[in-house]
Amino acid sequence: MSEELEERSYRPLLADAARRAVDYLEALGERSVLPRQEAVCQLSRLLTLPMPELGSPAAQVLAELDSLASPATVASAGPRFFGFVTGGALPITVASSWLASAWDQNAFKAAASPAGVLLEAVALNWLKDTLGLRGYAGAAVVTGATMASFTALAAARSFMLRKQGWDVEAEGLRGAPPLYIVTSEETHSTVFKALGMLGLGRNPDLVLPTDAQGRVRATSLPPLPGPAIVCAQVGNVNSGASDPLPALRAHCDAHGAWLHVDGAFGLWAAASPRLRAQVDGIEHADSCATDAHKWLNVPYDCGIAFVRDALALQQSMSIAAPYFPSAEGREPFDFTPDSSRRARGVDLWAALRSLGKEGVRALVERCCDLAQRFADGLRAAGHEVLNEVVLNQVLVSFGDAARCEQVAARVQQEGVCWVGTTRFKGRPAIRISVSCWATTVADIDRSLVSLLDAERAVTSGQSG
Ligand SMILES: *Cc1c(COP(=O)(O)O)cnc(C)c1O
Repeated sequence: MSEELEERSYRPLLADAARRAVDYLEALGERSVLPRQEAVCQLSRLLTLPMPELGSPAAQVLAELDSLASPATVASAGPRFFGFVTGGALPITVASSWLASAWDQNAFKAAASPAGVLLEAVALNWLKDTLGLRGYAGAAVVTGATMASFTALAAARSFMLRKQGWDVEAEGLRGAPPLYIVTSEETHSTVFKALGMLGLGRNPDLVLPTDAQGRVRATSLPPLPGPAIVCAQVGNVNSGASDPLPALRAHCDAHGAWLHVDGAFGLWAAASPRLRAQVDGIEHADSCATDAHKWLNVPYDCGIAFVRDALALQQSMSIAAPYFPSAEGREPFDFTPDSSRRARGVDLWAALRSLGKEGVRALVERCCDLAQRFADGLRAAGHEVLNEVVLNQVLVSFGDAARCEQVAARVQQEGVCWVGTTRFKGRPAIRISVSCWATTVADIDRSLVSLLDAERAVTSGQSG
């Protein structure tokens, strides 16, 4: 076969990719969660190589990629990665994303991808239905919760300034009327980043105090200084606790403020009748942001902004060009910061179609039950769990920051599971987030043994 023809022959290449991917996924549960240092070193040697003058056959590139890079991946898609808030990818979504890659659709506009645009629309309707967000007319599928907050806060900025007679899209912020930013002591760092990118500044005008679990104190809400965007959250990244949305809604209404909620993972509690009360009031916020690559377990990257007032979102994002044909239905790029974009709706649709409402509920509840089991095991071993384990997050105290770091490093090195460290309400802790569809009771029990062994080893002064 000539080289040119070989490049056009998909079947052997994609069959080889599928075989390699299945080998990888089948080994994922038993390999070290942390990659071996040699594998990372070997891959980093590529940094010293120049761009090759001549190309290489696809089959060879794939083999090289697999042998060099697969061993240097973190097994974060596997069942015992408890760092950050990290979902795996449901098998159906790995498959759907392969198909979507083959289609290579530009889902910015129906004219460019009816399939991408329609599947996104269906998925958004189903999401609103399953999360109780039917009142949100506007939505945007973006890369993650950071961009979802950016998108929603752009709509908030547009709406709040338009209300004062100012067109921020046209005029920018120079000379604009006042717009105050209210956050809490526990607002996620990415919300500040989003505010900074919007020219609203990373420094808020007012910071709401929080209780021991990191929830805004509903009883002591200070008056707002003027037209404001209030940034609340459901699912504190450390404790999993959620702000009291009904009280915040009432406060925002009294002051004519916009209520934005960061629900990167906490919003998914809405899918469970058992957990739903924690995010009560989410249906009445003005906007909220969430991730699908965390708790829904679709592949990276996928987040969603929901905005009650679709026009505010559209006014902040829409552009026109003479070569864009007009369309009847919803055009995604009227609502997103990006134009050309991956058809993220494909994986969203596939996940929701395969799970059903019942499956989403079960996935969320299972992770919470497993987090509870982890916490029970830690308490039974005599350790202090710092948070009320209301969702999928567990914070355990192992003494000062240096000891927490040592224990986490030792656990990571052993490779059974991966946990990180944090500081919550001034106290250092080990942080455990159970977010993967594949995690089982056995995975929790093995991880618990690894974590407790590491703690004992550090305590008895053995070197890691
Ligand atoms: C993960 C997370 C974010 C940021 O999400 P990305 O998908 O990484 O952009 C924001 N807020 C909270 C509470 C999170 O857990």
